Amino acid sequence: MLILTAVVGLVVWTVSDSYQHAELNEIFHLKLKEQFDKEVVGQRTRFDRFVKAYHPAVRTYAQMVNVRDYVEEVDWNLPGIKDHKWPPKWLPKTSMMRRFVLPRYAMLLDEYNQVREIYRYKNPMPPDELLNLSDDVLDSSHGQSYLAHIDGSLYIMSSAFIGAEDEGPRLLIMSPIDEEFLLASQGIAGNKSIALLNDEGLEVIVSSDHENIPTGALLDTLKENYLTTVAGHLGSGSSDLLVQFASFVSTADVRNQIDVVLNADRQIRAITALAYFLAFASVMYWVTYRIQRLTQKVVEFSNTRDAQASAPKRKNELLELEEQFELLIKAIQSETEALERQALHDPLTDMPNRKLLSERIHIELLKSSYTKQPFLVMVSDLDRFKEINDTLGHHIGDEVLQQVSARLQKTLRRDDVVARLGGDEFGMLLPNTSLDLCDAVANKIVKSFSHPVIVEGLSLNIGISVGVVEYPAHGRDINLLMQRADVAMYHAKTNKLGYSIYRSDEDKNTVGRLALMSEFREALGNNGLQLFYQPKFDLNKQRITSVEALLRWDHPIRGFVPPDEFIPLAEQTGLIMPLTLWVFNQALLDWKEWNASNHNVSMAVNMSVDCLQFSDFPQTIESILNEHQVPASNIIFELTESLFMKDAERAQKILHALDKFGIELSIDDFGTGYSSLAYLKQLPMDELKIDRSFVMDMLENENDEVIVKATIELAHAMGLRVVAEGVEDQAALDQLVKMGCDIAQGYFIAKPMPANEMSKLLEKEQASIC
Ligand code: C2E
Ligand code: CA
Ligand code: CA
Repeated sequence: MLILTAVVGLVVWTVSDSYQHAELNEIFHLKLKEQFDKEVVGQRTRFDRFVKAYHPAVRTYAQMVNVRDYVEEVDWNLPGIKDHKWPPKWLPKTSMMRRFVLPRYAMLLDEYNQVREIYRYKNPMPPDELLNLSDDVLDSSHGQSYLAHIDGSLYIMSSAFIGAEDEGPRLLIMSPIDEEFLLASQGIAGNKSIALLNDEGLEVIVSSDHENIPTGALLDTLKENYLTTVAGHLGSGSSDLLVQFASFVSTADVRNQIDVVLNADRQIRAITALAYFLAFASVMYWVTYRIQRLTQKVVEFSNTRDAQASAPKRKNELLELEEQFELLIKAIQSETEALERQALHDPLTDMPNRKLLSERIHIELLKSSYTKQPFLVMVSDLDRFKEINDTLGHHIGDEVLQQVSARLQKTLRRDDVVARLGGDEFGMLLPNTSLDLCDAVANKIVKSFSHPVIVEGLSLNIGISVGVVEYPAHGRDINLLMQRADVAMYHAKTNKLGYSIYRSDEDKNTVGRLALMSEFREALGNNGLQLFYQPKFDLNKQRITSVEALLRWDHPIRGFVPPDEFIPLAEQTGLIMPLTLWVFNQALLDWKEWNASNHNVSMAVNMSVDCLQFSDFPQTIESILNEHQVPASNIIFELTESLFMKDAERAQKILHALDKFGIELSIDDFGTGYSSLAYLKQLPMDELKIDRSFVMDMLENENDEVIVKATIELAHAMGLRVVAEGVEDQAALDQLVKMGCDIAQGYFIAKPMPANEMSKLLEKEQASIC
């Protein structure tokens, strides 16, 4: 850039310099010419005056006494001309003559116009023509200065009669108009030459510089080397020929003068330009340096932005900067696009996220407020997803979510929006759709989940619960619509309905969940909870060998609140540990009572998954057992299947610790999770409870029957005792006996009951055995 600046600067300076030079040259020429023309007028005036002065001079001399006296006395009888070497008596003193003119020749002429005496200073004797002037010429020289062309040369002459009379002898003064004369006419000689030209003004008669401006030279030829001004005819005296006055200035002199000025000017301008250049160069150097730094910064920044920036390589810093900026802009653009997409899409499934769904609903709200077209919003939640994620790992969970999103998108129309709201929750927007179509669409969604999702060869049954709201029937803003769709979804889930359309009465339940929670906390603190017990009947021994403690909350206003409703709440709010310990304490108290009455039953207590997150859990249990002096071998902990997989290592440690105390461990709800028996075999389990859903459907559903049978056989092969839950009738019981099941539990045997009733039942049983 510096080089470019220098080159441009030099070119600009050269052009401006030659232009200025030409301009100045012209101006100088013009001015000089003007000046010269003015001077020429002066020169001609001086010449005129000098010529004119000849007449007053000769008249003054002629009237002087010494001339008059001399002429009266002189005797000119002798022939010839008296040539005076020294100033003669008849001449005024030289100093006095100088006041007028100093003629080269002074002559005395007799009354016959014959030259009798001459004083020629140091000049040669004039030619004969001058010594024998005709009467005409003499008359012309009388009373004026007269220019005569004699013998090829110009002469000035003027004569006057001596004395007062206009007759008799005369005094004649005369000078050749030559170089010397011309110079003398101007006083101090300048650098300008003057000349007299012939009448046409074309040819030099005489000049003050006969070497360069010789007699006979043509004006046109002289113009090549001189600035010339012809000032016109002479304005004084008379002449036998017409001459013009001219001045000459050597153009070389003019040029030299102009050159001197211009060179001085050029020097000044060059110094100024150099000063400017240096100042500009240092500014440019600074600017270039800053640009290079800026480019470097852009490159560095680009590198952090993943732009394909390279080290600066161009010589032109501005182009380099431009290029780097372009690269950076492109990188930022694509990054912004990616960020925008990222901000509005879910990275796992690449589906719109909650934000984008909200935006689309917002647009739909605006549109529908004009078109009055209804639209549907759905919120869905997967059933059993948490378990899959916990037991099979996140990578399977992720794959399931991807397949589920694809399934949802395929089920809905192109214009519909399917978004992942987070976790296993999905939101859907169906523009221009009313509740009339809801059944068809929602059923289609639920049905699309009737066949399992296949991941890594595993066939996973995943259900979906969908909540539906319609604009404007169920709300006119996003928040309300989403909240109510959530309520409907929750209702669908808890009641296993597949899908549910929002109803305001369900909302009350859901909104009341928070209130329920604080009331539950209060119940736990104020003995508002109760334990019910349900017997586990040993089919071989034909007696109750254990009882399961089941929590009951009889709400003063709400009535019976099922544990399935409040236990998840307790888990979510960190109340599960105090609740479990309360249950365990209470169960031990009741057990001690029955034990005191010689009822030999084990106490089965349900343990929440979350309890096994506390590593000091076994110690806590041990200390409570010690406190109540209850042997651990009378205790069974029922743990749902998914629990074993959540934090397998920690869970195994805790399970082994509990097993070491002698506590029996039971796998609850077996069949609902995905753990294999082979895996469970590695754990210190004693009992397996087949989930009641299989047992209850066993007689109608062949599949379930096969599962129950196979589970019993496999569990036995692993040395586990098998409990069948949900035995509701004799037929099921008979079937289980046939299958070799060890223990049955269910309404058919006994519904859960308060401790005192349980005591009575045990009492009754003992009596019947006895
Ligand atoms: P669960 O451990 O599977 O308990 C058995 C559930 O099946 C009980 O429901 C019981 O009332 C019900 N049941 C028993 N026999 C039958 C039958 O023949 N048919 C039908 N349809 N149901 C039968 P409940 O008491 O509502 O408890 C539900 C769940 O709440 C329990 O399932 C258990 O997971 C949890 N739970 C109950 N009490 C506690 C507790 O103290 N601590 C923990 N952590 N969970 C508890
Ligand atoms: Ca249980
Ligand atoms: Ca169970």
